Amino acid sequence: MGSSGSDGSFTLTDDQQAVREAVRELALGEIAPHAADVDERERYPVEAQQALAKTGFNAVHIPEAYGGAGADAITTVIVIEEVARVCASSSLIPAVNKLGSMPLLLSASEELKARVLPEIAAGDAMISYALSEREAGSDAASMRTRARRDGDDWVLNGTKTWITNAGVSRWYTVMAVTDPDAVRPSQGISAFVVHADDEGFSVGHKERKLGIKGSPTCELHFEQCRIPGDRIIGEPGTGFATALATLDHTRPTIGAQAVGIAQGALDVAITYLKERRQFGSKLADFQALQFMVADMAMRIEAARTLTYQSAAATERGDANRTFLASAAKCLASDVAMAVTTDAVQLLGGAGYTRDFPVERMMRDAKITQIYEGTNQIQRLVMARNLLR
Ligand SMILES: Cc1cc2nc3c(=O)[nH]c(=O)nc-3n(C[C@H](O)[C@H](O)[C@H](O)COP(=O)(O)OP(=O)(O)OC[C@H]3O[C@@H](n4cnc5c(N)ncnc54)[C@H](O)[C@@H]3O)c2cc1C
Repeated sequence: MGSSGSDGSFTLTDDQQAVREAVRELALGEIAPHAADVDERERYPVEAQQALAKTGFNAVHIPEAYGGAGADAITTVIVIEEVARVCASSSLIPAVNKLGSMPLLLSASEELKARVLPEIAAGDAMISYALSEREAGSDAASMRTRARRDGDDWVLNGTKTWITNAGVSRWYTVMAVTDPDAVRPSQGISAFVVHADDEGFSVGHKERKLGIKGSPTCELHFEQCRIPGDRIIGEPGTGFATALATLDHTRPTIGAQAVGIAQGALDVAITYLKERRQFGSKLADFQALQFMVADMAMRIEAARTLTYQSAAATERGDANRTFLASAAKCLASDVAMAVTTDAVQLLGGAGYTRDFPVERMMRDAKITQIYEGTNQIQRLVMARNLLR
């Protein structure tokens, strides 16, 4: 954990710096070379998955008790940031492993954690998070997927949409309605873990997307999907609260993804400005462009600082963690969109082609303003926390 003083300042520990160096080297050597091809062919980044699993960076957040590295929240966001700097699709491997497993870490029985988490930590399996439905996006509590008791088992019926890494994940954390008569719909929702081999489970339609094309986003179908009774996460009726508490821990990871994408685009733009010449000068000599670069770097630093601060606040359980997680995700994703758009501008016509990675980074940045709650929803969450 970075030491975080009462004045809000912090420094990264030697271990956190070392992780950044190691992931940067891995990302440049084994992930970056495939990023354009992964995007072009809309294929899963197997090279990244293998490289991350081999080095244990696939799910660093899992505690040592379950075979993981037990990394703190700042270390986890650093891993995601450094991977996103070269390939946003690949950064969803560590990010979604945290998203899918956080409900278990927060609320599951010891037996269930011991059953699922070691496989994730070892890189033998991945886990996705299934909250959204076609008609229940921002209003997630209006979901229709049902789970009912049948003897000792639970039986799930319904369809989830937009599920990141569906098909490649072996485990799925699934939120479903167990009490349709609950006074508040959110209190009638429970969380479960479903395995890809469970009877009645299937992966459906794959979305055709603007960006993060290497990360499959698919529907999940549950047709009389039968799972053992002990696969419920926590008590019946607590699933929505667990799903929201999870987002406090994972919105900082989307902030990190956004910071990484933005930094990657700035890196490319700076190299280009120092090489390209027009009107007899380097582009880097034009003050109008110097000011753009300064603004881009300034915004990235602000987003990075808030992202680390929010990760640390969530891990400590600070009272303002929900506000900070939303603020970090919202600020960093808005910064990523602005910075990547400016990076395309700085490269001129070249920036608009697939010969340079900034057009991919601009397309990839857009999703960070949408998933894990749109930035409108983040602003609602922040306002609710400020005004209550
Ligand atoms: C690539 C991708 C991957 C995803 N991965 C996952 C995943 O792994 N697991 C998962 O569960 N979900 C996932 N999602 C779903 C994602 O979280 C939702 O798309 C998102 O929450 C928005 O829901 P929606 O698409 O239904 O949009 P809508 O809720 O229909 O929103 C449409 C617009 O209306 C705005 N809006 C809605 N309500 C309000 C309001 N009250 N006030 C102001 N504005 C409002 C929104 O901000 C948005 O601009 C993913 C989505 C995508 C595109």
